[in-house]
Amino acid sequence: MSNQLPIADGLFTWPSENPALLGSRCQDCGVAAFPPAESCMACSGQNVTPEELPRRGTLWTWTIQQFMPKSPYHSGETPESFRPYGVGYLELPGGVRVEGRLTESDPDKLQIGMEMDVVFAPWRTEENGDEIISFFFQPAAVG
Ligand SMILES: [Zn+2]
Repeated sequence: MSNQLPIADGLFTWPSENPALLGSRCQDCGVAAFPPAESCMACSGQNVTPEELPRRGTLWTWTIQQFMPKSPYHSGETPESFRPYGVGYLELPGGVRVEGRLTESDPDKLQIGMEMDVVFAPWRTEENGDEIISFFFQPAAVG
C-alpha cells in the first residue's frame, strides 16, 4: 500500500477530495500571496489569513523546459528519461501568480491568456512506492 504525500506542507489542502492551492491574503490591503506568507509583501502588514485559491486561472507566461533542472527541482529523472515539459505562471482571480509545471508540453497548444485549471497529480515516485503529489496547470476543457 503506497501513500500519496504532498510535495511540501502548506502549499495545498491534502489529503482532500477537492484539493486547492493555499495562499494568504492581507486583510488590510487585499493582496494575496502564494505560497502563504506570514506578512504582506505589499504593505508589510501582519494581518494576513490563509485562504484556498481559485482552481482556474489564465496563463500569464510560459516556456518549455528543454533541459533537466538542477537539484532540488529534479523529480527523479535521468538524462535518459527526461522529457521537455511546460512551465509557467498562472494568474488567478485576485491577482496572485503561481509558478508551476504544465501538463502540456506542446507549444502549439499553449498560449498566453488561455484558461487553465489547477490539478493535482503524482510528481514522482519514491523508492518505497510512495507517490509525491504536486500541482500542475492543465488547459481547461473547452466548452
Ligand atoms: Zn497588505
